[in-house]
Amino acid sequence: MGLKKKGKYWYGTDTQDVQAEVVRFSQLNGYPATRFSSPVCPCGSLTFKLESDEEVGAARRVCATCGAVHLMGDSAQYADEAEFEHHVCVCREEVFQLLSSVALYAESSDVRWYYIGCMCMGCQLVGVFAHWKCEAGDAEAFLSAT
Ligand SMILES: [Zn+2]
Ligand SMILES: [Zn+2]
Repeated sequence: MGLKKKGKYWYGTDTQDVQAEVVRFSQLNGYPATRFSSPVCPCGSLTFKLESDEEVGAARRVCATCGAVHLMGDSAQYADEAEFEHHVCVCREEVFQLLSSVALYAESSDVRWYYIGCMCMGCQLVGVFAHWKCEAGDAEAFLSAT
């Protein structure tokens, strides 16, 4: 456990490390993430390919085991306009463990900003691969839909 920096990238070994990186990144972004949830496919898999469009605020994950496609959080509302971009790690791996993370409005449980933390299954790089301002209402309901 524990983040290690190599060059300009951070590497970790587990979800705690992804969370630590999301917290670091989100603090620098001005909207600290405080709630987290690890997406799990109905088949039980924790690893996915990730596609996103930060401009419209939509992401979808494709299960690395069964191929199920899931629009994350409130992304279904924006998917029609989205031009999904496929994420590839610097090591060329395309399969990641994900950590959905949100910042909330002050004294509220409403989502203000959405961060998608990733850990590469090839080289264990961790990072926030996509994030955007997201006004999706209740954080618990939002995260359970990611
Ligand atoms: Zn699956
Ligand atoms: Zn990698």
